[in-house]
Amino acid sequence: MARCLVTGGAGFIGSHLTEQLLELGHEVVVLDNMSTGRQSNLDRVSEHPRLSIRNGSITDPVLLAESMAGAEIIYHLAAAVGVKLVADDPVRTIETNIFPTEVLLRAAAAAKQRVFIASTSEVYGKNPKERWVEEDDLHFGPTSRPRWAYGCSKAIDEFLALAYHRKFGLPVVIGRFFNVVGPRQVGHYGMVIPRFVDQALKGGPVVVYDDGEQVRCFAHVKEVVNSIIRLVETPAAQGFVYNIGSDAPVSIRDLASQIIERVDPRIEIQYLAYRDAYGDDFEDVRRRVPDVSRLAARIGYKPSMTLGEILDDIIRWKREQRDPD
Ligand code: UDP
Repeated sequence: MARCLVTGGAGFIGSHLTEQLLELGHEVVVLDNMSTGRQSNLDRVSEHPRLSIRNGSITDPVLLAESMAGAEIIYHLAAAVGVKLVADDPVRTIETNIFPTEVLLRAAAAAKQRVFIASTSEVYGKNPKERWVEEDDLHFGPTSRPRWAYGCSKAIDEFLALAYHRKFGLPVVIGRFFNVVGPRQVGHYGMVIPRFVDQALKGGPVVVYDDGEQVRCFAHVKEVVNSIIRLVETPAAQGFVYNIGSDAPVSIRDLASQIIERVDPRIEIQYLAYRDAYGDDFEDVRRRVPDVSRLAARIGYKPSMTLGEILDDIIRWKREQRDPD
């Protein structure tokens, strides 16, 4: 059993990863500044004897070094995330996502620690291809549009991680997440499914941006966490980037209809221009579908829950939150 550090371990994905690592018998240190993470995400395991939680920021190099000491595996998930948050505060995005990652990689290389770097499908930008493979080009928009600060910051992290692998033999794996969803995800930062489910449970309308023809693939966080752990435990996976997500596309309009059908078929869809949702300098990604064959070939597994199963799980969780009894 290994001692693991999970940065961002109180976040949506990080808390599920922490639970799963504890279940597998590992020891876990969580480092989280509780900005988008929440202490309550760890409620189910907060008393666990193999868990310790450090409340602080990865931007503090002393705290980061202390948290890394003695760990065999580092899951680096702490970051500024969410399209809305990132569009609102590009300075924080760049500061949180780039410098601490470099500090972490340097220390891990010196101590020969295994590392997982959480990246994002945002690095492909608006690549027009039907399905994105890891070796595809990155297509960012102009720097006057703050959205691209997020993808660019994560692309720098990937360059750094791959460089530390090549130069110092750092055992690192990079995962590009594609629209990870599930219980504990909140809608404040723009995530579409928790927003739609909240709107539907309040009686509607469900607010779809633009024409709703945008396409995404949604993966359940449990399956994403399983993919991450398997990648880290597969030595041949090191030194590469992996798409991690579902490869089943759905339009946002269709997603809204499926949620409405489950909650109350009388609810209406309302369409809102991007300008009114995000402001003038926003640009959306119209289509985002991964090719996950590299992941499947390497670990013999890929996220495969259907959207229906995923929505049922999220709606059940949201209903429990609203009415715990
Ligand atoms: N979206 C929407 N209504 C919302 C939030 C998002 O129609 O309340 C759309 C958004 O324009 C995008 C898609 O849903 O096309 C996914 O948005 P999200 O922010 O969840 O993720 P990302 O854009 O990073 O894929």
